[in-house]
Amino acid sequence: MRLFMQTPSKTVSEIAFQQCISPSCRATFGVDEVLTACTKCGGLLDVSYDWNAAAIPASISEFESKWSNRHDPLCYSGVWRFRELLPFAPPEKIVTVGEGQTLLQQTNSVGAFVGLDAGNLFLQYEGMNPSGSFKDNGMTAAFTHAHMIGASQAACASTGNTSASLAMYCAVSRLMKAVIFIGSGKIAYGKLSQALEYGALTVAINGDFDDAMLRVKEVCSKLGIYLVNSINPFRLEGQKTIMLRVLESLQWQVPDWIIVPGGNLGNSSSFGKAFMELKHLGLIDRVPRLAIINAAGANTLSQLYEESGVRWNDGEIDNAPVEKYYDAMQAAGRKASTIASAIEINRPVNFEKCLRALDVCDGVVREISDLEILDAKAQVGAGGIGCEPASAASVAGAKLLREQGIIAPSDRVVCILTGHQLKDPTATVAYHTTDQEEFNEVLGSRGVQRASYANRAVSVPNDLNEIVRAIQLYS
Ligand SMILES: *Cc1c(COP(=O)(O)O)cnc(C)c1O
Ligand SMILES: [Zn+2]
Repeated sequence: MRLFMQTPSKTVSEIAFQQCISPSCRATFGVDEVLTACTKCGGLLDVSYDWNAAAIPASISEFESKWSNRHDPLCYSGVWRFRELLPFAPPEKIVTVGEGQTLLQQTNSVGAFVGLDAGNLFLQYEGMNPSGSFKDNGMTAAFTHAHMIGASQAACASTGNTSASLAMYCAVSRLMKAVIFIGSGKIAYGKLSQALEYGALTVAINGDFDDAMLRVKEVCSKLGIYLVNSINPFRLEGQKTIMLRVLESLQWQVPDWIIVPGGNLGNSSSFGKAFMELKHLGLIDRVPRLAIINAAGANTLSQLYEESGVRWNDGEIDNAPVEKYYDAMQAAGRKASTIASAIEINRPVNFEKCLRALDVCDGVVREISDLEILDAKAQVGAGGIGCEPASAASVAGAKLLREQGIIAPSDRVVCILTGHQLKDPTATVAYHTTDQEEFNEVLGSRGVQRASYANRAVSVPNDLNEIVRAIQLYS
């Protein structure tokens, strides 16, 4: 019997290191260094491993043996029970709040909306994480690294969920103080309420997410604060486990498609890395295809990948179209704008890594309108547990790719529902009350006119007969 759960004889610093993703650079750095970019070429960093020194199971299904050990927090966590595949942290430094207890739900009603054969659509509910979004998968990993190196303050720029997650880890562990940067007026109330209640120092700057992201980097390097945005490679290590849990729920069968909304592109990048490593380690024999869905009002990836044809190209990315695109955006003063605030990002920090993921997974990118997002969200809610607007981009994207014949009705498709239904009640209520004032305020200005699946509240006088009549009429 292989005892892969035993601590390997090597220490984490002998197994794990940081490495520039650019094949022409490949500079390496220690696992205990705090970096947000390669110091040689400015490229993005990976956490890499000497797999020969690590303890890897002979078969991926061996991870199921952790279930019998659920009193151990590191086996209970849906992230750390896969820690052999992210072996950068000594167990005693791992900070976990029990993240990753999520659920893969097969749903035929949403499947029919998308246009798939019965039994083929699966929704991965990452909103079930402790702070209500997939961000906890990454935050436990980045926070653990911050703890490893002795940080006392951690910061992020956020459209809301990263800050909610960081603030939660700070509040629960008492190990660090959270400093969060948000664009003024750009955050859903569910998310803002979390940051405030968990006690984070919340800095609202006059600008949008892209502005906040630039500032937080400057502030962190000036004040020596640990940065937990997804530019932090340790975050992405934790997010790899979303794919491991999807595979586990499918009894280790690889689906045909993984579909995920794209914002800063950390999640999609981590999925690509997960599959690259699983394939390399011989734990899976094929990788799924990856579809990344942008909102039409925040469509940098879709424009550069699908319109300009920018590719990973073995790390030799043609930067000319990318620079041209950003120059034009700057000149026009164009800002990201979508109801799906979690993906309202025009300058995705993980762009290059994401190109690598698209390469590994034979990926496609699509963009969809706010109305398509909200219609898909209504269908997700009507067919199950629900999600926030950005999450529904995955389902709307699946529908579009079905219509285009890129996904076949017989394909097995997993859509990642990145955030909880209650994160952004304003958008949901506005959608379902199309005849009321909020709709115009919230959605009308975005050109959304028709809510196909609105479930309107019925107004009735406070009178028994009228109420009975209304119920008979509408039910
Ligand atoms: C952060 C977030 C996204 C975007 O993920 P990226 O990794 O930035 O691409 C999508 N949906 C929700 C709910 C999020 O919180
Ligand atoms: Zn480099």
